[in-house]
Amino acid sequence: YQFYQPKSDSAKTDRFANRGSPQTLTLETRLHYALERNEFEIFYQPKVNLKTGKLTGAEALIRWLHPQDGRISPAEFLPLAEKTGFIVEIDQWVLRTVCQQVKTWQTEGFSAVQVAVNLSGRQFNQPGITERIVEILKQTQLESHLLEIELTESTLVKNVTAAIATLNDLKQLGIQVAIDDFGTGYSSLGYLKQFPFTTLKIDRCFVSNVTADSTSSAIAIAIIQMAQSLNLKVVAEGVETEAEKAFLAQNQCDEIQGYLISPPLPPNQFSQYLTKA
Ligand code: C2E
Ligand code: MG
Ligand code: MG
Ligand code: MG
Repeated sequence: YQFYQPKSDSAKTDRFANRGSPQTLTLETRLHYALERNEFEIFYQPKVNLKTGKLTGAEALIRWLHPQDGRISPAEFLPLAEKTGFIVEIDQWVLRTVCQQVKTWQTEGFSAVQVAVNLSGRQFNQPGITERIVEILKQTQLESHLLEIELTESTLVKNVTAAIATLNDLKQLGIQVAIDDFGTGYSSLGYLKQFPFTTLKIDRCFVSNVTADSTSSAIAIAIIQMAQSLNLKVVAEGVETEAEKAFLAQNQCDEIQGYLISPPLPPNQFSQYLTKA
């Protein structure tokens, strides 16, 4: 596999410095070309049960390999795509590609694996989002319980009534919903509980400090305990060390995801984690 090699700061600045110059395509234009030219791909990062060590699913993460600039991190291009609204097309492509891939693994004889797709606020708050998802599941003939959607708190609080309605529709369909980056937003878990979701993902910033900083470890413990009392599954993201893993196990976290287990992998390498049905 290939780790993300974030370009040096100067390379990053140069790339953005080119924006708007007549000789060079803007990042926005290149984003449009990227979809047409198949420059995007999806990597899959395993999630495992902390007690058994067994694979429980994967998170799908978009990757952009630009022919000249090399790998461009989603943290660089997604904010712009979100601003221009192009994220809706990207998210649609990701959903379809992931559903197709999961179906392909099944067809190849692997046991079913659940994959989580990150949805931007723009995409989630589109009218008819449930219908779009249903359409993709139909086209790819994928069972709905194999799809999980990851949303952030800010996505849900934008339009509370509509979000609750959409989440109820997804629940009816058997699609799982996770709150991503939990702990970094402004809403309390009590407030968030009005939204019907199934999983909480503890943000990496708390996980990477659990062994060093008592505030982070207190927050991580509090999140795990609250989630348990509300019957939610808790996943810790960004687990990099055995010490973090031990801390999470001791505090009854359900699942972990992070470089300690594996970085995000291209589909052909991820399939080594799958077992034959
Ligand atoms: P996220 O959904 O919170 O995804 C987790 C991020 O943490 C990923 O970064 C992943 O590669 C990284 N990560 C996983 N394990 C570790 C670890 O042990 N240590 C460290 N330092 N990092 C780890 P990535 O792939 O760069 O994605 C960044 C963000 O971009 C994601 O955060 C998500 O918000 C967004 N994103 C990624 N793919 C998509 C997509 O297909 N659609 C949408 N709408 N957003 C996406
Ligand atoms: Mg995520
Ligand atoms: Mg996250
Ligand atoms: Mg994040």
